[in-house]
Amino acid sequence: MLEKSALYVVATPIGNLSDITLRALDILAKVDVVAAEHIQNSKHLLASHSISAKWISLHQHNETAVTDKILALLASGGCVALVTDAGTPGISDPGAILVQRVRAQGYSVIPIPGANAAVCALSAAGITNPHFLFYGFLPTKTGLRQRELTALQSQTNTLIFYEAPHRILECVTDMLVVFGPQRQLTIARELTKLFETIHVGTLQETLVWLQADTNQQKGEFVLLLSGAEILDKSEVSEQARHTLTCLLNELPLKQAVKLTTEITGENKNSLYQLALDLKAAKYPE
Ligand code: SAM
Repeated sequence: MLEKSALYVVATPIGNLSDITLRALDILAKVDVVAAEHIQNSKHLLASHSISAKWISLHQHNETAVTDKILALLASGGCVALVTDAGTPGISDPGAILVQRVRAQGYSVIPIPGANAAVCALSAAGITNPHFLFYGFLPTKTGLRQRELTALQSQTNTLIFYEAPHRILECVTDMLVVFGPQRQLTIARELTKLFETIHVGTLQETLVWLQADTNQQKGEFVLLLSGAEILDKSEVSEQARHTLTCLLNELPLKQAVKLTTEITGENKNSLYQLALDLKAAKYPE
């Protein structure tokens, strides 16, 4: 039995039509209306599981207007399922506005979990860092994309991006420019589909690999970029070491350490110890 006046947010496959849960199929067969990003795509999915439904189109350009209709349906006791073309609604997909307004009106919003491209890629990438930041789609223009990437430069979490095939080369090139050749990039392409590929390499090596085979530039992509190295608290960065060395040439040790701490924000005790070491190396007893 379905709950009355409820919105079910239903995850659908990201490629392989069998990647849908039994619960999702049950709900899609029973709701009064299915709100879909592209009705034809979702009809195809439901038909492959012998389910027919009453449809309403909901996409990024009509989400606000269609939300009013869905609220009216919920008010009359109906229940609605929301699906998008692939994966989990609301994740780089429409849904958040609808969910927010349905919740605000006091109706139940019930998530039906399932496929998501980012998590699918992460699960098979073998990345040991337990922390990640899901970014989604980067800006489409190089200037803005590089600016956005630069803002993420010191992130220590794995960074997860979605990218379209016609921008994959430009995007990886910009990553190389901003993060340098040695950062690790995992490319997860066409997950759960015939040409599924998961490639792990440095940015430099991965760009060469992509350029060498145009087939690898086709399809849908998740990019997992390893995070910045986490500095040991007792370690001093190259930049701080340089600043401290310069200041030690001009100032007394304590003052040089104080200023370096202020400029770089690094650990005072580590800088103090380094200053002592540098002094000892310069003036051996
Ligand atoms: N809501 C979806 C989810 O939960 O992952 C994402 C929808 S977003 C509009 C579509 C993007 O997700 C694609 O451009 C691609 O970057 C990524 N994606 C979707 N399916 C994929 C797949 N099978 N393999 C790799 N990436 C995929």
